Amino acid sequence: MKKKLLVAMLVLSVAAFLCTFNASTALAAKKFVSIASGWVVGVYYPLAGAISNIAHKNLPDIKITVESSGASIANAKLIASGDADMAILQNDTAYYALKGLKPMFDKEVANIRGITSLYQEHCQIQARKDSKIATVADLKGKRVCVGPLGSGTELNAVQILEVYGMKFDDFAKVERLTATESSDYLKDGRIDAAFYSVGVGAAGLVDTAMTVDCVIVPVDGSQRDDLMKKHSFFTKAVVPKGAYKGVDTDIPTVAVMAILAARAEMEEAMAYQITKAIFDNLKDIERAHAKGKELTLATALTGMSIPLHPGAEKFYKEKGIMK
Ligand code: GLU
Repeated sequence: MKKKLLVAMLVLSVAAFLCTFNASTALAAKKFVSIASGWVVGVYYPLAGAISNIAHKNLPDIKITVESSGASIANAKLIASGDADMAILQNDTAYYALKGLKPMFDKEVANIRGITSLYQEHCQIQARKDSKIATVADLKGKRVCVGPLGSGTELNAVQILEVYGMKFDDFAKVERLTATESSDYLKDGRIDAAFYSVGVGAAGLVDTAMTVDCVIVPVDGSQRDDLMKKHSFFTKAVVPKGAYKGVDTDIPTVAVMAILAARAEMEEAMAYQITKAIFDNLKDIERAHAKGKELTLATALTGMSIPLHPGAEKFYKEKGIMK
């Protein structure tokens, strides 16, 4: 009897051991990857959500989680510290991060690597119509949001103002608000204008223009030429008429590129799998936001400002878009 009990106990403990062992190996097999994205009412966030979904449907071993953030500058720092495995950010900021450009970066973000270029982000200055701001110079003495903390937008605001001989000190009030807040502040008249470097059609701008009469302030003429000469990542761009309620003509401005990046420490096989899954499922990216349509294999390297991750490189070589 005693012997039987002993055998039964032994069988039970072996079974229990096997159960825990199986559960923990299953957990260990699943790899967690975080993407630092951007503003909830921007374009990075919905696109990162689409990438997470693609992984969920096609890469059973990888779970991608999405974090919202101030965006580009904050995201580059998250890559440096290892608090994010991947990030979406502007190509200009990514390059400045790699080089450790001061004052935004106190040291080089040496481990930032490119996965793919995504789409064009336009520098858009949205102003309340009743603030009578028609040019950048008219922003003098106004209450202006220069972008969320940690954004690439703020850096672009400094660069744009500089070629107009202006500084943040020229504003009556300088705000650093999340994009959701700046939209609310514009709607209820707590600010007159807000800078956004973001894909045209971002929810925040669309929503503001639906609620209050707004204009997009042009960046053009000799100032735009100076801007492009000084900062090579800017290209000429147009916010097309009809992009927002009340925008009835094409508005000239400049644009940068949004790119997807990863830490150099990410395994090559994983970076390869994620890159491949994205390009095998472009329809899912398109569905997340209209800007997703700009992502194609042919333009994957357009504006790529940092060295590629070897996993992405392997994929592009296979596809013949890189030697
Ligand atoms: N380009 C923006 C920035 O870094 C973020 C835009 C977005 O979240 O879609 O300032």
